[in-house]
Amino acid sequence: MLSSKSTGSIVESSLDALLSDDSFLPELQGQIRKQAFTSLVSILSTPNHIHKSFLRISLENGKVIRIPAFRVQHNDTLGPYKGGIRFHESVNEDEVINLASLMTLKNALHEVPFGGGKGGIVINPREFSIKELHAICVKYVHYFSDVIGPDKDIPAPDMGSGDREMDWMMAEYKSIHPGQTYRGSFTGKSIVNGGSLGRREATGKGVYFTFRYMLHDFVQEQKKWFTTNKSVFAETALEYAERPLTVAVQGFGNVGSVAALEAFKCDFLQNKVVAVSDRNVTLYNSDGLDIPALVTYVTEGNGDLPTTKEQLEQNDIKADIHGRDDILTLDVDALFLAALEDQIHKNNVDDVKARIIIEGANSPVTGEADEVLSDKGVIIIPDILANAGGVIVSYFEWLQGRETQFYTEEQVYKLLYDKMKNTMDTILPQFFGDPFPLRQNCYIQAVMKLSTILYRQGKLY
Ligand code: GLU
Repeated sequence: MLSSKSTGSIVESSLDALLSDDSFLPELQGQIRKQAFTSLVSILSTPNHIHKSFLRISLENGKVIRIPAFRVQHNDTLGPYKGGIRFHESVNEDEVINLASLMTLKNALHEVPFGGGKGGIVINPREFSIKELHAICVKYVHYFSDVIGPDKDIPAPDMGSGDREMDWMMAEYKSIHPGQTYRGSFTGKSIVNGGSLGRREATGKGVYFTFRYMLHDFVQEQKKWFTTNKSVFAETALEYAERPLTVAVQGFGNVGSVAALEAFKCDFLQNKVVAVSDRNVTLYNSDGLDIPALVTYVTEGNGDLPTTKEQLEQNDIKADIHGRDDILTLDVDALFLAALEDQIHKNNVDDVKARIIIEGANSPVTGEADEVLSDKGVIIIPDILANAGGVIVSYFEWLQGRETQFYTEEQVYKLLYDKMKNTMDTILPQFFGDPFPLRQNCYIQAVMKLSTILYRQGKLY
């Protein structure tokens, strides 16, 4: 897990860079400037509240268990706390704190008027019956019902949870708070319960959009500028924008499968998705995989990719079967990481061959590995930039729930892409023109925004 210290230390180095930039908050000078920046480090590196509990659940076999559960509220400078609830057996407090702080930065970067929060429930959801999962969701809302709400803290799905869980949770919130508005208490709900069209696909679509915009639209538009600016990142981007690319996607869930499908459908420069993987296997075909057939296989089956030759043949899918982690070190141009955190770390980083990495998951590259890759000129499109589609469309869902007016799918995607394009148009010229990795540029942008607001609110004295 990328520890909270790592996010904290990137925040600190962003603030260091801003401290010595005289054009940033010029009103603050000398000792007062130093003190204000010390306050900022402490405000942005520590969560406002950590709520934890043990959910007592009676299982269908008669046993009673206690499940650790968290809700971390990191920062509410920009609005109500916002972030998903992760259902995973490895969830722990430090991880939830780190993920909550990423939400603060993600929302600030994309100008989403929410703060950062995150929840966690320490279970493997595959090991519970539907009835038990329902009881877990109800208990979670019950325990945290005083601290969440449409204007306080708005949870959403994360790894291991989806619209079913959000519907259950919203219903429990509604019965605990009768007579109050409840639609905005959770996002990522099903459409019939006030969810937004396009929310399920939003993260994967957004992930692919950042890659496409950066390496195609942006570079093509600014080609002249690129040919005269020779930063190592600009050189990679220019080379990549000129030829068909091979793409590998780690993770075939909500994010990975949608990103893979977008890459498959994409008409620019005949890019090829040559590999995809999930918790069991990597599937590889140098001529390109039939992604729609794989998506059908996964949705019609138990959610896993085919693992045997027979399964592939029966479904007329041509692919070689490799080990699960082989995807990370394949000789491809672009690697999408849409599985878990910490996938590229100090022990495998030297074998990574892709020169562009797109973080669909949160923190899939450890701090150490990030440094090694960035030093080599590998472009990493960081999580807070690439995977914000989910929370951006959550914001649209929250708005639609308030207005009780619903957008079409096309409207949702247009609003999503416009928002992500705006962010990239602010960040990319600076990124390609200076030696800082893209992650650092994004952090500086987000921290700048939060710091200015905190300063204007008189919170830095
Ligand atoms: N869990 C998603 C994330 O990490 C979405 C959060 C939300 O929609 O609030 O960004």
